[in-house]
Amino acid sequence: MKPLLITIDGPSGAGKTTTTRLLADRLDYRYIDTGALYRGVALAAISKGLSPDDDTALEKLCSTLKMEFIPGEKGLRLISNGSDITDQIRTPEISMFASAVSARPVVRHFLLDLQRHLGRDKNAVFEGRDMGTVVFPDADVKFFLDASQKIRSLRRFEELKLVSPQSLEAVERDMRRRDKNDSTRNLAPLKPAEDAIRVDSTDLSIEAVVGRMLTVIENIIIR
Ligand code: C5P
Repeated sequence: MKPLLITIDGPSGAGKTTTTRLLADRLDYRYIDTGALYRGVALAAISKGLSPDDDTALEKLCSTLKMEFIPGEKGLRLISNGSDITDQIRTPEISMFASAVSARPVVRHFLLDLQRHLGRDKNAVFEGRDMGTVVFPDADVKFFLDASQKIRSLRRFEELKLVSPQSLEAVERDMRRRDKNDSTRNLAPLKPAEDAIRVDSTDLSIEAVVGRMLTVIENIIIR
């Protein structure tokens, strides 16, 4: 099979991370969670006490930040300047801060280069908000994964139970705010690429979503 670069974009709670991992596993591909990189920048900025709209300070911060993914027992680990930050970046505070810094051109520019570098050998599934629109406009297969607001909030609520429990109302409120930030920002807003295949996961299991994606991929390869 020729090497493919596959992108999955969509709002939080649509099931992107689990889908991306399972799809990559089935194809024996790498998976890259680009949201983790925005979270990595957010963590570094918070630990230095930066404001999310201080472009000069953010630019300086990015120039000293070296992030890489390395394989771990339960999936990829994110290493930032030598420290494993995988388990620290999943809190609601980091989610909101990541959404704020992701609107800054200096941060997007820094991560654009890094993401393209990670995708240079293809054989990978990338998940995020602007994978198919901005980072990899020539990707071989693009998906846009969505689900109803209610089911997305419920999924996120369940996920957070393990790391940083919140009430369902708080989860839903944060999610609406983040979706609004992400889809209304000027630079690389969350939206489906024109040539993206839309998949609605509201009533589908992850297995069923991945099954649909594999069928699309097989059809594209045969064509
Ligand atoms: O996907 P995740 O929820 O981990 O992403 C955290 C935040 O990073 C998102 O709310 C979004 O603001 C930002 N992000 C982005 N572009 C991407 C991936 C994530 O702007 N490709």
